[in-house]
Amino acid sequence: MPILKSVFYTLSKNKSLNIFAQKHSDKLGVNAFVAGTNIKELDANTTLLNNKNITVTIDNLGEFVHSEKEADEAKNNILFILDYIHENQLKAHISVKLTQLGLDIDDTLCKRNITEILNKAKEYHIFINIDMEDYSHVQSSWNIIDDLKGKFDHFGTVLQACLYRTQEDVTKNADLRLRIVKGAYKENSNLSYQKKKEIDDNYLLLAKRHLLNGQFTSIATHDHKLINELQNFIVEHNIPNSKFEFQFLYGFRTDLQDKLINEGYSVCVYMPYGADWYGYFMRRLAERPKNIMLVLKQNMNKKATL
Ligand code: FAD
Repeated sequence: MPILKSVFYTLSKNKSLNIFAQKHSDKLGVNAFVAGTNIKELDANTTLLNNKNITVTIDNLGEFVHSEKEADEAKNNILFILDYIHENQLKAHISVKLTQLGLDIDDTLCKRNITEILNKAKEYHIFINIDMEDYSHVQSSWNIIDDLKGKFDHFGTVLQACLYRTQEDVTKNADLRLRIVKGAYKENSNLSYQKKKEIDDNYLLLAKRHLLNGQFTSIATHDHKLINELQNFIVEHNIPNSKFEFQFLYGFRTDLQDKLINEGYSVCVYMPYGADWYGYFMRRLAERPKNIMLVLKQNMNKKATL
């Protein structure tokens, strides 16, 4: 891994910097990648996208959850967003990380929290996506997902193409709505492909496989080469628009988002929201140090309007 990527990745896991960064978000160009640090900003940015016929998935940011109280707070924040989506009729669903809900503390607590979220979401007909985190949480996340599978059908999860295990996971989960991503976490070579070409090849295999499974597939990548190839595959195999969408992270490739919408495809934007944005922000810099340019541009625009 090149040095700059490695530095950003190591910084993403630093709790003290996380606390510092929360106090200085306005000075750091955070809104290049974060859709709002409060509900007013989130609502405004969601409405802008919804008006363009783009749906969103809201991620209530939060890392370093190590107590039951913090996990309950995260759950309550998500319940609040569910109420907000419902009351304001936003075209939105939720993305959630299980560590936020207590996965590192106690499985029972985590299950209780995600069940409460799923129950409320069911009442409102809102979909819940369970995001996939670093490898140390992958199997424990699947244990919870497997348990939820018999009880709920309005949720899905994520496959990370960098991991060797995902070919098996896509086979076992042909009946689940899946988001296919490359994988945001740095993993060892005994668990994960290291070369871009290998990850891209596995990405295409997984996406094509799930598109043919007939369950809903979220094609989540900014990589136009992969998007082009999957568009051709979709046409060739007559896959209906109701069975897939393209997903992007907020602030990324807005040109491509607009192009896909104009071509009649469904597009969904991942909206990171809240004060605890630091880890998310650093991972975006780690996976593509060039993203720093987006942040600088954002800061320059802000200064120009002061
Ligand atoms: P990259 O390999 O980063 O980029 C490939 C090529 O795309 C680049 O070479 C360039 O040509 C082009 N490109 C990329 N970015 C830009 C840009 N800003 N401007 C212009 N060209 C660009 N990861 C997880 O581990 N778990 C999750 O739950 C998860 N959820 C996600 C949800 C969504 C909606 C998305 C989009 C990503 C998610 N990720 C998740 C992150 C994902 O795993 C990758 O880390 C991230 O998407 C970067 O990989 P990429 O597919 O965009 O391609």
